[in-house]
Amino acid sequence: MKIPFLDLLLQYNQIQGEIKEAINSVLENQYFVLGSEGNSFEEEFANFLGAKFVVGVNSGTDALILSLRALGIGKGDEVITPTLSFIATTLAISEVGATPVFVDSDPNTYEIDVNQIESKINKKTKAILPVHLYGSPCCIERIMEIARKHKLYVIEDACQAHGAKVNKQTVGTFGDLAAFSFYPGKNLGAYGDGGAVCTNDKEIYSKLVSLRNYGQKVKYYHDEIGVNSRLDEIQAAVLRVKLKYLDQWNDLRWRIAQEYLKGLKNNKCQEVGPNYKSCYHLFVVESKKRSSLMSFLSQNGIDTLIHYPVPIHLQKCYKILGYKIGDFPVAEKLANSLLSLPMYPELSNEKVKWIIKQMNDYETE
Ligand SMILES: *Cc1c(COP(=O)(O)O)cnc(C)c1O
Repeated sequence: MKIPFLDLLLQYNQIQGEIKEAINSVLENQYFVLGSEGNSFEEEFANFLGAKFVVGVNSGTDALILSLRALGIGKGDEVITPTLSFIATTLAISEVGATPVFVDSDPNTYEIDVNQIESKINKKTKAILPVHLYGSPCCIERIMEIARKHKLYVIEDACQAHGAKVNKQTVGTFGDLAAFSFYPGKNLGAYGDGGAVCTNDKEIYSKLVSLRNYGQKVKYYHDEIGVNSRLDEIQAAVLRVKLKYLDQWNDLRWRIAQEYLKGLKNNKCQEVGPNYKSCYHLFVVESKKRSSLMSFLSQNGIDTLIHYPVPIHLQKCYKILGYKIGDFPVAEKLANSLLSLPMYPELSNEKVKWIIKQMNDYETE
C-alpha cells in the first residue's frame, strides 16, 4: 500500500467540474484583482468564521505582517509568540521591525504555554501572537484575559486552523485580528498563494483595506505607505468553491483523528481540551525513536513529515537574538520527537487502519 503524506489530487477529482467553471467565469470576465469574486469570498469567509470583516491578501505571512502594521507595531516593540511554530509567525514580527519574544510549549497540548506568558511582559510588549498549532486551538481565552489585564493586542495565527472552535466559537474571532493562510496544503487551500485577515473592528478593517492596496483609499491618492498584497480573483473563485465543503472536510479529518487516537497504542498524541474542536490540519504524535520509525513507515509505503525539526529560537536566522539550546526545553524535546502522520479528508479507513497497524507493530518491537 502506498500512502503519500498529502494527495491534493483526490480532492480536486471531487470538485473538478465546479473549479473549472469558477476559474472559467473569471477568465470570461477578464477582471483579475479586487473584483466581485474577492468581495464575495470575503463576505462568505466572514460568515463562516462569525466575524464582521475579512480582508483577502496575498499569503498568510502577509496577513500577519499587515495585521501587525495595522496595529502600528514596529521598531522598538516586542511581540510574545511560541517558539514551536512555522517560521512565518516570527518572520512577520521581524518584517515590521519588532522583536519576537519566545515562549516555551505546553508538553501536552504543544501550544504556547500560557503560564509562561506574563513573565515575558514588559514596557516594550505590544502584542501576543499565539498560534493555533496543527489546527488545534491554543488557550485563547486565557490569553485574552492576560492581554486585557496588560492592555496588549492579540493577533491569532490561525493559518492552520480554519474552522477550529473553542466552545462553538470559531478561532480567529477571539483576538483583535487573526491571520489565515490559503497555501494549497492548508485545510482551505487555494491553487497558489493566498491569505486573509479577519477582525470585528471597523477601523482596523479600513486600515487593512488601504494597506494591502498601496496605501490608497481613493485611486492614486496615497495617505500612507502601503504594499501590494491582494487575494486575486482566480484564487478567490477557487476558495469560494472549496469553502462550501470545508465543514464536511474538517469533519472527515476529525473522524480520522478519532481512529488514530483510539488505535495508536504506544504514542503520545496532541491533547485537545474538552471544549475544544481541532480541525486537525496535522496529526502529530511523539516517538522516542522517530528517525527509525519514519524509515520503517517509509519502507511500508507510508510517508510522514516533521513539523518542525528546529524550534524558531534555534534557527540560524535568529542567532542574533542570542537564544541557546536548553532555553525552551519542551519545544526542543518536541522538535526532536514529533512526527506528522498522513491526515487529509480523502484518506480511506483502510489506509488509516494500515498506518495504525504499522505504528503499533513498530513501537512494540
Ligand atoms: C502556513 C503558515 C503561515 C504562513 O502562511 P503562508 O500562506 O504560507 O504565507 C503562518 N503561520 C503558520 C502557523 C502557518 O502554518
